Amino acid sequence: MSSTPQNKGSYTKKRYLLFVIVTFVIFIIPFMKIDERHLLLLSFEKKQFHLFFTIFDMQELSIITPLLILLFVGVFFITALGGRVWCGWACPQTIFRVLFRDFIQTKLLKLYKTVKNKREHIQKGAYFRKFVAVAIWVCLSLVAASNFMWYFVPPEDFFVYVQDLENHKVLMTFIIGITTFLVYDIIFLKENFCTYVCPYARIQSVMFDEDTVQTIYNDKRGGVIYDKDGNLISSKPKGENDECIGCEACVKICPTHIDIRKGMQLECINCLECADACTEIMDKLSKETLVSWTSPNAILNNTKVKFARFRTIGYGVVLVIALCILLYRSFTKEHMVLNIHTTTQSYAISKDTKSVENFYVFLFRNTDSKDHTYYFEVSNPDITIKKPEKHIFLKAGQQTKEIVILHTDKILVENNSGTTPIPITIKAYAIDNKEEIHTSKKAVFPYPRISELAK
Ligand code: SF4
Ligand code: SF4
Repeated sequence: MSSTPQNKGSYTKKRYLLFVIVTFVIFIIPFMKIDERHLLLLSFEKKQFHLFFTIFDMQELSIITPLLILLFVGVFFITALGGRVWCGWACPQTIFRVLFRDFIQTKLLKLYKTVKNKREHIQKGAYFRKFVAVAIWVCLSLVAASNFMWYFVPPEDFFVYVQDLENHKVLMTFIIGITTFLVYDIIFLKENFCTYVCPYARIQSVMFDEDTVQTIYNDKRGGVIYDKDGNLISSKPKGENDECIGCEACVKICPTHIDIRKGMQLECINCLECADACTEIMDKLSKETLVSWTSPNAILNNTKVKFARFRTIGYGVVLVIALCILLYRSFTKEHMVLNIHTTTQSYAISKDTKSVENFYVFLFRNTDSKDHTYYFEVSNPDITIKKPEKHIFLKAGQQTKEIVILHTDKILVENNSGTTPIPITIKAYAIDNKEEIHTSKKAVFPYPRISELAK
């Protein structure tokens, strides 16, 4: 994927377009819901996780495994394929920095002369404009912090809670904390966050291989600028055919203040601003850019980037499987949960009626988004339900424990050698939607030896 004079400035424009799309998507996801079911929400208050408009109870941990696989393998996959493409193209840190430095400080308030020289110092004085820049960013940070919180407190609750912050101090603390961090991070920490704080920057290089797409200076054409130990030889290479003119446009524009001609560096966030800068210079000389988004192998062998390789195909397959499991779990999710525990009390015998009773604790959980009334039945027609006599009402997300007594006055088995565990199946269901909301659980009805009944 080598840049040509025809794609002048293309990376910057594409990045800005993606920034707008990413920001829009992140902003609207919390508002996307069907009834009370959100596209994505982790509510600690309601102990629920919403995914693809399905509500999962916190106890439904089976969803966690494919989710974690999706997250981690997704990071490996994207990094092996496109290097730090996330950092330069979709990370909120980068989007915020471009918004603050390039748009607010430079284009809007003219505190810097140009976006093309990130080494330039901010204009001296101009205190009012500097104050306006900070004020705008504080407001935007407040919006970003609120947007972040909507993934944990849905907007319909958030806007009610913020009107009563006295009773929602935790929410207020988070909003103020995140806002303060964003102000410090974007105004003072700047790209140092990417270099020194972000853990992804530290681990990404182990996920690279020689086919990973990166921002690369072509020293075969441009000429060698640094020696093997990283010492600067000369900013303008001396070779007769070396094409780099030493203008340093690629160096000045770099937001992390590195020289890409030194080779791959930890600080590079793959923003490709240097590639566009070089493209602009080399366009004037009717030559191809010396800095492009390509792989070391593609440069070495003068070939196209090899995207489909064993590693990336493997990651891709695992990702598709994890995504299918997630979707399957979402669409086949049970809308109620029943757990059955036996009590410490053994069976009770009524010698007069020759009846036997067993005691259980049933845990009913309504994992649906609506309120329901539940009851259950026992598979063995000779065993009846003595308790509870009434149906069980549960609000959406609510759970309850019920003492259950199963009873029989029939002779179920004539065994004299000991207690007989009679297998039974409990089918629990929502009275109002028996067809769709039901679950079955195996249990045992211990039945005493026949001599005990006859005593
Ligand atoms: S070297 Fe600098 S400008 Fe070039 S991609 Fe890396 S961070 Fe961006
Ligand atoms: S912008 Fe291109 S020509 Fe100018 S110094 Fe960088 S690599 Fe060399």
